[in-house]
Amino acid sequence: MQLIKFAVGATAIAASLLLQPGFAQERVLNLYSARHYSTDEALYANFTKATGIRINRIDAGDEQLLERLKTEGANSPADVLLLVDAARLWNAQQMGLYAPVKSALLEARIPAEMRDRDGNWFGFSTRARVIVYNKVALKPADVASYEALADPKLKGKVCTRSGSHPYMLSLVAAVAEHDGEAKAEAWAKGIVANLARKPAGGDTDQIKAVASGECAVALTNTYYWVRLLKSTKPDEQELVRKVGLVWPNQTSYGTHVNISGGAMLKNAPNKEAAVKFLEYLASDQAQVYFADGNNEWPTVKSVTVKNAELDSLGKFKMDNIGPAVFGKNTPMAQRIVDRAGWR
Ligand code: FE
Repeated sequence: MQLIKFAVGATAIAASLLLQPGFAQERVLNLYSARHYSTDEALYANFTKATGIRINRIDAGDEQLLERLKTEGANSPADVLLLVDAARLWNAQQMGLYAPVKSALLEARIPAEMRDRDGNWFGFSTRARVIVYNKVALKPADVASYEALADPKLKGKVCTRSGSHPYMLSLVAAVAEHDGEAKAEAWAKGIVANLARKPAGGDTDQIKAVASGECAVALTNTYYWVRLLKSTKPDEQELVRKVGLVWPNQTSYGTHVNISGGAMLKNAPNKEAAVKFLEYLASDQAQVYFADGNNEWPTVKSVTVKNAELDSLGKFKMDNIGPAVFGKNTPMAQRIVDRAGWR
């Protein structure tokens, strides 16, 4: 009895302390992140230095984070979620996980096509989905567009990862926006008919399969290619020499560009800190860390990164329909890949 009384008393004291204005309570931000790059450490440390807000971080895969948020529900301690690819950001939005953020700073810094109209999510870096081909097997003109990958003359020459992967769903969503659902489905079926092997592995695996000659052409996000360009391993340097890069659709709608982005969570206990953190990610300094850490481009137009290997890819015409459209078309894209049997 005595013990219980004491415990209740202690809790009451702790609670009253917390309620006192000006009580030195440590300010924190709880971050769920699907990003895990070495420069992210400096990114977070600088935020704490600038604001005094300490970051508690949970790093996990996108799926695991969404599963965790679903389970935690209203009791979730998470304030901010960082995800890669518009299809995933959109997915989490459909799950009702976000709280819209109204920030004049974010609206001024992040271009309108790189964020949700209602402030549900913001893109902080971009990557392009490009075509890589085996230089002995093909010429760049053979694979100048996404549509070309369905050309029957590439039968047995195409490698891809699963069509259901978010990177693919976003691309299919974009192609469907430009070409219409029926044409996009015929295109997806054409790719499946051209496959050199069952879809498997990640983007780097596709590049390796192109280099080895297992297939002649594949798709990859730019940062995987740049990572290989930076490699000091002799076998990877050798691999890079065998592969060429094509910016797809330069004479039509442009190359597909996706985002890595963030959002404030609906049940965020530290909403003020969450907005501060999202605004910080749009600052010049954070943009450089955020983008360069994964060999991407900053979304804030006035910010430039010096990244010799990324810069060596040159300039290209990008598809400007924007990630909100990929999100909206994601269910259609899933239907298309299902009907095409692009597993
Ligand atoms: Fe990736």
